[in-house]
Amino acid sequence: MRKISRNFFIVVLLLLAVSALFGLFSGPLTHSENIPLSQLAQDIIQEKVQSIVITGGTNMTITYRDGIVKQSTKEPQGTLSEVMLDLGVDQHQLQQIQIEPRKESGLMSWLGPLSFLIAPILLFLLFFFMMFRQARAGIGQAFDFTKARAKLFGADPAKQKVSFKDVAGLKEAKEEVQEVVDFLKNPKKYVQIGAKIPRGVLLVGPPGTGKTLLARAVAHEAGVSFFSASGSEFIEMFVGVGSSRVRDLFQTAKKAGRSIIFIDELDAIGRTRGFGFGGGHDEREQTLNQILVEMDGFDRDDTQIVIAATNRPDVLDPALLRPGRFDRRIMLDLPDVNDREQILQIHAQGKPLAANIKLREIAERTPGFSGADLANLMNEAAILTARRNKTQIFQEELYESIDKVLLGPERKSHVLSKKEKEITAYHEAGHALVAASLSTVDPVRKISIISRGYAGGYTLKLPTEDKHLKSRAEFIDEMAVLLGGYAAEKIVFNDVTTGPSNDLEKASQIARDIVKEYGMSTTFGPVVFGERERAPFLGRNTIEEKNYSETVATQIDQEVNMLIEAAQKTAEQIIRQKRKTLDKIAKALVQKETIEREEFEEIVGLGKTKIPKKRGK
Ligand code: ADP
Ligand code: MG
Ligand code: ZN
Repeated sequence: MRKISRNFFIVVLLLLAVSALFGLFSGPLTHSENIPLSQLAQDIIQEKVQSIVITGGTNMTITYRDGIVKQSTKEPQGTLSEVMLDLGVDQHQLQQIQIEPRKESGLMSWLGPLSFLIAPILLFLLFFFMMFRQARAGIGQAFDFTKARAKLFGADPAKQKVSFKDVAGLKEAKEEVQEVVDFLKNPKKYVQIGAKIPRGVLLVGPPGTGKTLLARAVAHEAGVSFFSASGSEFIEMFVGVGSSRVRDLFQTAKKAGRSIIFIDELDAIGRTRGFGFGGGHDEREQTLNQILVEMDGFDRDDTQIVIAATNRPDVLDPALLRPGRFDRRIMLDLPDVNDREQILQIHAQGKPLAANIKLREIAERTPGFSGADLANLMNEAAILTARRNKTQIFQEELYESIDKVLLGPERKSHVLSKKEKEITAYHEAGHALVAASLSTVDPVRKISIISRGYAGGYTLKLPTEDKHLKSRAEFIDEMAVLLGGYAAEKIVFNDVTTGPSNDLEKASQIARDIVKEYGMSTTFGPVVFGERERAPFLGRNTIEEKNYSETVATQIDQEVNMLIEAAQKTAEQIIRQKRKTLDKIAKALVQKETIEREEFEEIVGLGKTKIPKKRGK
């Protein structure tokens, strides 16, 4: 864009110059008066004229005794003396004047008339030259497409401004990433002891949670070069471009020594191979293969670390996740209230806030907002303030900006209303409470009502020991936990929402498995129904061959229903009994959105006997 305007400027300048030249040649050289020959004759007779310069036999520049210069022209035929004598000038008077015939300068005589012809041609040539130059630049870029266009951030680490301080929340992610920083700072320490260095770190999280931010912060903290390329940049029209770009990117990074290679939007390339129905996925596959080749080609003491970011880990090719590649995965969650407050604080820096502003309130109103949304919110508030000609941002501008950001694409579905928040809190509290009350269930590690993926909230359980076998009692309890959310909603609100549908599906699957697959049913005993063809890679989505009668099918259904009902009863019983605890958990959830294990156990107050010592993280 800038280049075009510069060229345009040059063209205009040239046009001006050319038109000036026209003026120069078509008009007289100076703005001196043009007089007819008769006037000249008169002036000579009156002895006013000092000298006359004749150029080209026609143009005359007359200098008067009083210093004035005038112009005149005569026919090329006949000398000036002849003309003057004809007009009645004295021979004697003529002799007193210096008459100096000058040959017209070659350039003038030629260019004068020709400039009318040449100038347009010159202009055309100029235009063509410029067009050509631009086209060539374009072609150059097109032929340069193999270059990875790796952007180099902070080759001078001092310039890389983002540090861990600028990243709010993400405590766990930061801790994990610290290790990478430490390695990049002194790789020898690790190499000497024979430790294998992480090659690839995969940052996984919803858009705007700070994946790119974190990667840049790592580069800064470690003081190394940071090369970044986006996955979609590798995928181009031409087959083979992607892979050579990858090669180029890694080569550049190797030359730079200790460095971070950051591949943003890895899912654009890393999609599962082999599902390219109708072909056309060659390019992606080649690019992906090249990445794998480069990562496998790292030597033991190479000091490059590949960090990739994605919000779709589910579509990544399993080959990428194998040991020695992106074997380290770091989850970045949407921020909870405290994190949101911190993020708002970070982005409020450099903006004049009114003294009574309460960022906490804004944080409480924005569940489901990502870091990027919050940064956006702060910016919108600043814009609004400026538009209202205020010098400080007030609370009302912040509130208004919430709605503005909410109107943005996709956000609406993400954010819980106050009522929804409460329902979700009770739902998750139900799961957690039931889990904490049943002896075979793993302790609750974390409860959250911040949506993650499709679920409204989640309750994470921590397995206390590695298990390979599961008992019937465990299955039954698991079903009760799954129905805990449903039961809580039903008891507290006298109504149920679509929230638990996923839970119910899972519970039904377990019930069906108990009866049909594991032979744990009380009516049928140890019999397995339905022959399954288990496709090796497709997991549970198997095709079932029905090898039992309709009567048996009805009986199976009855048994499944019974199991579900029993689980529901267990869950409801627990929740009715411990309604006060449930309220406490839900209240804490509404307030904090995320509860960690310690706090949960404190609220429940019954876990001590049941929950074993916390194992290493
Ligand atoms: P992602 O790469 O995960 O989509 P980005 O790292 O590009 O998200 O984040 C976009 C912007 O949002 C950042 O530049 C930053 O201003 C803001 N942001 C996101 N997360 C945080 C955070 N945890 N702390 C501070 N700012 C954040
Ligand atoms: Mg990003
Ligand atoms: Zn649930």
